[in-house]
Amino acid sequence: MDLSRFQCRRCGACCRWEGAVRVSPAEIEKIAEYLHIDVREFINRHTVLTPDRRSLSLPEKADGSCVYYDDVRKACVIQPVKPRQCSAFPFEWNFPGWEELCEGGRELRKK
Ligand code: SF4
Ligand code: SF4
Repeated sequence: MDLSRFQCRRCGACCRWEGAVRVSPAEIEKIAEYLHIDVREFINRHTVLTPDRRSLSLPEKADGSCVYYDDVRKACVIQPVKPRQCSAFPFEWNFPGWEELCEGGRELRKK
């Protein structure tokens, strides 16, 4: 599949499916600053330990979607400072069957 032709259709599926959104220390600083929250407070109250206990991630809502996904606006509320894990999908990482779940992926399969 030629990912150079991939176009994100902003369907929001990648923000709603389950799975840890890891954040680096530098990303935490940027997000905290963007939200006007003290970094220490952000770490304590707005991040969780990943299941492998190797890093911090953004919390999930009860349905598994990212806490920063706005269901009404259908958009990321921290878009300008979203983690690299988000902006790197599907170019730098993806998983078997991702193109079935992602609107841009489904379109790419038809091209
Ligand atoms: S940080 Fe933004 S782009 Fe990343 S999963 Fe959450 S809502 Fe989606
Ligand atoms: S699932 Fe695909 S098309 Fe939908 S927002 Fe994520 S990257 Fe874009």
